[in-house]
Amino acid sequence: TPRLVWFRSDLRTHDNTALAEAAARGPVIAVFLRCLDQWQQHGHGANKLDFWARGVAALRDDLAGLNIPLLYRDIGHFDAAPQALLAIAREHAAEALHVNAEYPLDERRRDEQVAAAFDEAGLAFHAHHDAVAFAPGELLTGQGDYYSVFTPFAKAWHRQVDAKRLALRETPAPQASLAIDSDPLPALPSLADTPIDGRHWPAGQSPAVDRLERFLRYRGKHYHQQRDFPAVRGTSELSPYLALGMISHRQCLQAVMSDNGGRLADGDAGLSAWVSELIWREFYQHIVVGFPRVCRHRAFQQHTEALAWRNDDAGFAAWCEGRTGYPLVDAAMRQLVQTGWMHNRLRMVTAMFLTKHLLIDWRRGERFFLRHLVDGEFAANNGGWQWAASTGTDAAPYFRIFNPTTQSTRFDPQANFITEFVPELSSIAAKKRHAPVGDLLDSAAYPAPIVDHKAARARALGAFKALKD
Ligand code: FAD
Repeated sequence: TPRLVWFRSDLRTHDNTALAEAAARGPVIAVFLRCLDQWQQHGHGANKLDFWARGVAALRDDLAGLNIPLLYRDIGHFDAAPQALLAIAREHAAEALHVNAEYPLDERRRDEQVAAAFDEAGLAFHAHHDAVAFAPGELLTGQGDYYSVFTPFAKAWHRQVDAKRLALRETPAPQASLAIDSDPLPALPSLADTPIDGRHWPAGQSPAVDRLERFLRYRGKHYHQQRDFPAVRGTSELSPYLALGMISHRQCLQAVMSDNGGRLADGDAGLSAWVSELIWREFYQHIVVGFPRVCRHRAFQQHTEALAWRNDDAGFAAWCEGRTGYPLVDAAMRQLVQTGWMHNRLRMVTAMFLTKHLLIDWRRGERFFLRHLVDGEFAANNGGWQWAASTGTDAAPYFRIFNPTTQSTRFDPQANFITEFVPELSSIAAKKRHAPVGDLLDSAAYPAPIVDHKAARARALGAFKALKD
């Protein structure tokens, strides 16, 4: 009797725990449930949804190579999942359902409902831990609590990680044909017609592996020196692939080890720094389980719920549209809207600008990012936003507020990044593009800063101090 494997954010056939476990026990039928209403309610926008759809199409082709049919259903909301899956199981007389666990709250609740429905129907439900090295709850402090600070978490991770955890799961061999056809998938627009230039993000596991190889070959060893400069392509740009599981963290870590004498820390400084980013990803996956309030739009640092955020729609619109008058902030926001991706340094700069300089609630920025990011992923996005807003884990101390102009001269010294996305400043001398003033603004038709750095900083400090008093 066949087993169902329900694919979600694990759109690959290589190194996929649920698929490997199911295939080791019998023939497999793959399932994908599109939950468009639910995903839109979660805030995902067209860029991510498009990449997701392309990923499913690529997965279907990869599965076809293994003679595994892919059944596809449109179910709208998560709460329709138990019925849809049971119907498929009955139709094909499947005995079990395998999934790789997803950790945010709604996804966990959905899986609990599916598990209960399968249990009631006398069918097995297996949730495998796959997305990160340690299942949430496996890596705890000496007191048995979830870590709420990154550095000790990362130390514990390095101390306890072992070869077995990181061993690649076997890709199944092609199975005998089941005489079940894959379902047709909705038609996709051409890559050039997608909301952003989809050609930059070809979906599927083989483009993801190519990207990993190219990153490690050409950029990995310089990562620690180049990762902070948005005009340089110094990072892997693997985030959309990791977010939808077109590549796994194990594949990334194995590739690092093979280039780094079997090591994850020490050895090459670039590669170790990159591993540390993958551990940040894992850290935030643990946080959403250990502190589920963050999944309910609540602050990690609960006392910050009382912060007097400003209701400033005009400021928010200027930030969204890249016309704050701070060129680096504006270039970054335009990069997000035009390309669906933003460099990590700039995610920090823009998030801090919104939450500190404009004193606008981080939840508004979090939502805007998700709507545009092709790599939009709840745990990392929420973690990043709460970090910048000083409401989260490892919160940036509230008095450390990036000066956007200093960030600009430091991390975009030639203003190349600024010029790419704010071309109206190209007529101004490069040195002056970080903070154009006076006549230069008129000649470039570029707005004056919407807030003064010093005054805005003082206002933010006041609001945070008021929390303490
Ligand atoms: P690399 O530098 O090559 O890093 C490798 C991988 O490590 C990334 O692909 C990503 O999976 C992971 N990673 C790197 N940095 C972080 C981090 N700080 N937190 C968690 N994981 C990390 N990342 C997302 O994947 N989705 C998001 O929605 C998201 N939103 C963010 C919002 C804010 C405000 C901030 C400050 C950060 C956010 N990040 C998010 C984290 C980070 O900015 C991106 O993962 C990174 O820029 C992606 O580029 P890359 O793949 O080239 O990263």
